[in-house]
Amino acid sequence: MSSEVYDCIVIGAGIQGSCTAYHLAKNQKKTLLLEQFVLPHSRGSSHGQTRIIRKSYPEDFYIHMMTETYQLWAQMEKEAGVQLFRRTGLLVLGPENGDYKKIKANLQQHKVPIVLLEKEEFNKHIPNMNLTPGDGALVDTTAGLLYADRALRSAQRLFQSYGGVIKDGQKVTDINPGSVVTVATASGTYRGRSVVITAGPWANTLLANVGLELPLQVVKINVCYWGEKVPGSYHISRRFPCFVQVESKESKHHIYGFPSNEYPGLMKVCYHAGSETNPDFRDKQTDKTDIDIISRYIARCFPALEPIPAVVETCLYTNTPDTHFVLDRHPTHSNIIIGAGFSGHGFKFGPLIGKILYELSMGQAPSYDLSPFRIARFQHRQKSAL
Ligand SMILES: Cc1cc2nc3c(=O)[nH]c(=O)nc-3n(C[C@H](O)[C@H](O)[C@H](O)COP(=O)(O)OP(=O)(O)OC[C@H]3O[C@@H](n4cnc5c(N)ncnc54)[C@H](O)[C@@H]3O)c2cc1C
Repeated sequence: MSSEVYDCIVIGAGIQGSCTAYHLAKNQKKTLLLEQFVLPHSRGSSHGQTRIIRKSYPEDFYIHMMTETYQLWAQMEKEAGVQLFRRTGLLVLGPENGDYKKIKANLQQHKVPIVLLEKEEFNKHIPNMNLTPGDGALVDTTAGLLYADRALRSAQRLFQSYGGVIKDGQKVTDINPGSVVTVATASGTYRGRSVVITAGPWANTLLANVGLELPLQVVKINVCYWGEKVPGSYHISRRFPCFVQVESKESKHHIYGFPSNEYPGLMKVCYHAGSETNPDFRDKQTDKTDIDIISRYIARCFPALEPIPAVVETCLYTNTPDTHFVLDRHPTHSNIIIGAGFSGHGFKFGPLIGKILYELSMGQAPSYDLSPFRIARFQHRQKSAL
């Protein structure tokens, strides 16, 4: 064991761990970032070219957090000298009386610039798409997409440029709590005054080492790309926006998509739910019900797309029962910090989550009210071996 003691060891180099490490190193903390796979990899939740960034949430606290998050992404872009954000607007659709109504009211209350689209003028603004009778439609004009792979790489590079150390291909196999925490991998043992666990779908495997199990469900998401019948019909350069259908005839879960851009002639449209899987044997899960649901939705609402996916890739969600994140200290070891359960919507918050986890790891008061994200909210279901 080396005699070196880090201020913090971050376990897991997805977007949340990498952004946490970035804030730590930027604040002159001696930081080690450990990752089980050789980087970059596509086995967790942070790979792929794009993610949606939006203020369109029915909950106040997420809208509130997004204001600073946009600023932090802009700051990271500036430091890295790389474009990470592209504003496209986000088309929000859904039955007037459901979640759509809550999102609309919340955006209006928080004075987020939006454009309400009446059904008569819908196709003037959004060509090649059928608005479902009874659905409302609005555009959150501040929203857009994040270049996810680039963002992840930028956070890691900036971390290193501030003096941080990344050791990849090092799976953490044990964590020993104490005022100095010991972390073991097959290649070595490391010591830190604090530890942040941001292990994505493997969170519970790691937490078992510190006597904790959270109610997390790992699900496989089929990331589907659909061919344009006429290439370019939904292209980003034609200002086709990102979209989210919050409820539909096909499903109560969101269906969301991006203008065609990543792969020429293909539009990414996904379903915001999947079937449970084990992250180590991800592709043993072969359920395709979600693809059938999107396919029916596309046939009805996107007449200029082929309703059979041309390409299907894979990504994982780690869901909590209420779909809100876990951002907290370990209940008995206050220098072990947990960032988990990002429930398929955590990427956009990356730099802010990183800031919050950094604050917790240094024993500082967090900048935000973390009550929606506390472990204690699961008390009735949590299986703790403490
Ligand atoms: C298809 C898809 C679409 C999405 N769309 C959006 C979107 O539009 N907007 C949005 O905001 N969010 C979106 N998300 C969600 C977002 O991508 C995730 O919330 C986010 O990437 C989670 O990051 P993470 O760092 O927690 O997890 P991960 O990226 O999985 O990172 C965890 C890391 O920990 C490592 N690790 C685990 N165990 C160990 C160990 N024992 N030792 C060392 N390392 C370990 C893993 O290998 C992994 O690299 C989407 C997710 C998916 C899958």
